[in-house]
Amino acid sequence: MIHFVGAGCGAADLITLRGKKMLEEADVIIYAGSLVNPELLSWKKECCEVYNSAKMTLEEVFAVMKQAEADGKTTVRLHTGDPSVYGAIREQMDLLNEAGIDYDVVPGVSSFCGAAAALKMEYTLPDIAQSVVITRMAGRTPVPERESVRSFAAHRTTMVLFLSAGLLDKASEELIAGGYDPKTPAAIVYKASWPDERTYICTVDTLYECAKKNEVSKTALIIVGDAVAQTGYRRSDLYNPAFETGFRPTKE
Ligand code: SAH
Repeated sequence: MIHFVGAGCGAADLITLRGKKMLEEADVIIYAGSLVNPELLSWKKECCEVYNSAKMTLEEVFAVMKQAEADGKTTVRLHTGDPSVYGAIREQMDLLNEAGIDYDVVPGVSSFCGAAAALKMEYTLPDIAQSVVITRMAGRTPVPERESVRSFAAHRTTMVLFLSAGLLDKASEELIAGGYDPKTPAAIVYKASWPDERTYICTVDTLYECAKKNEVSKTALIIVGDAVAQTGYRRSDLYNPAFETGFRPTKE
């Protein structure tokens, strides 16, 4: 059995209870060494085999899984954040399907949630933004043209850019060309939830300078949109005494 487990975005205690139990019971752990906190490995069994997938190809990862399965072992494939977001799990699961190997997935705290926590921010503020666009700049990995940052920018809602900290001059250009006012608030969150977490507030047109000045070029998320200011919103209906919900009838 293979368990794909979301490690959470940094701090070891952000893994789920289920994920931790699986780590404690695993015979083999294959972890994404570029971003997963190595502290998580302290819960492994003494005899557990550990592999760092940052140094491996898909074929090598699959070979380890296949051998473990043949030996009747349990494998944890530990991915950073939540495995469904830029986790490259589909290709692994398809190989497992072909080989008839059973697997399941345990979600994790994605870095876009960790970043909001670091900023003490609500992405979806009434009257300001009710959608969150999760995307990335095209880099060595292309992005389909219909999903360009420029095209999403037309919505001027909250946008979270993954994998783009090294492309901020171009990102600003695209965001502004697409519709954000250059002075729209923006944030850079470096290593959300890690001990060396850092957050910076700037504007869409100063993203590049801000990152450069603070020496941020990777392991960061860029958040843009009026919601970053966290002001000017309407209070929620959900907790408004005049608004009835199934759980909370209005008082007579
Ligand atoms: N599955 C992961 C994302 C993997 S892609 C998740 O759910 O978070 C790797 C990118 O995620 C990095 O380039 C960076 O943009 C972002 N990232 C991962 N961990 C981060 C963290 N702790 N703080 C800020 N950004 C992070």
